[in-house]
Amino acid sequence: MERRYILCDAEKCTGCRICEFACSSGREGSFALELSRIRVVQSSPADTRSMACRFCRNAPCVSVCPRGALSMDEENSIIRLDKGRCAGCGWCIESCPFGAIVLDWGTKTVVMCDLCLGLSQPRCIQFCPKNALSIHGLDGDQAASR
Ligand code: SF4
Ligand code: SF4
Repeated sequence: MERRYILCDAEKCTGCRICEFACSSGREGSFALELSRIRVVQSSPADTRSMACRFCRNAPCVSVCPRGALSMDEENSIIRLDKGRCAGCGWCIESCPFGAIVLDWGTKTVVMCDLCLGLSQPRCIQFCPKNALSIHGLDGDQAASR
């Protein structure tokens, strides 16, 4: 299956954080932005965009996890988290070049994007008022290099 991930068009993104609200409310049942699976980052006042897991091939988070809590789900092209195995050590967070994994201090386990598996469209995409978000598909050589 081709690699897919949520892509943000920085030209459209205003940094409103509605994507974070949509994600955390949908997944956690509260507006706990620190638990959003998509993160708004601002590298300069004029450059704001949101980032979520890129589901890398040979993903470093999967490799470094000492508990085998993360695995690539090839069928759905996402990384699966087995919360029962996660010890909250944070190694995966350190290894992620996109800052796409966050620690839930309440449960001491991590959270990360799974493209809202089961929904026709991820919540962040549904609610972005600027249509800045879309699913980007990768295949072939592009995917192999990620
Ligand atoms: S909801 Fe859309 S415009 Fe607002 S921060 Fe997220 S990606 Fe940017
Ligand atoms: S925080 Fe959990 S998923 Fe991440 S490396 Fe540690 S045990 Fe694995």
